[in-house]
Amino acid sequence: MSVRVEFAKQILYRELEFNNLILVKTLSQIQKEIADFASERGFDSETTHEKLALLTEELGELSKSIRRSHTTQVATDDINKSKIHSIEDEIGDCFIVLLDLATKLNVDAEKSINDKMKKNRKRIWE
Ligand SMILES: [Mg+2]
Repeated sequence: MSVRVEFAKQILYRELEFNNLILVKTLSQIQKEIADFASERGFDSETTHEKLALLTEELGELSKSIRRSHTTQVATDDINKSKIHSIEDEIGDCFIVLLDLATKLNVDAEKSINDKMKKNRKRIWE
């Protein structure tokens, strides 16, 4: 994407945000929203191990969705475009369950990501 297009998108984005036409949420706000939803639906009583098992299940569903979206039997990045919605759904499930698990463990996901990225930027992989 060209710099001009990216700049135009940023201006449009800020204009929409300024006029309250879009609501930008932080990861902490999304985590809180998921915690509230879990509480409303009674999912907050699930144990850490139950939530971890559910996360594993959702990762399996994501894996299955990606495997079924390939246009060939060979493992490439050639994804069938009509199957992308299934992958998006499963990625959403994974994030939701992971953020729910973080809440259960009293972990601020946004802070943990920012802290870890600071470490990763200094790290050198060999
Ligand atoms: Mg799922």
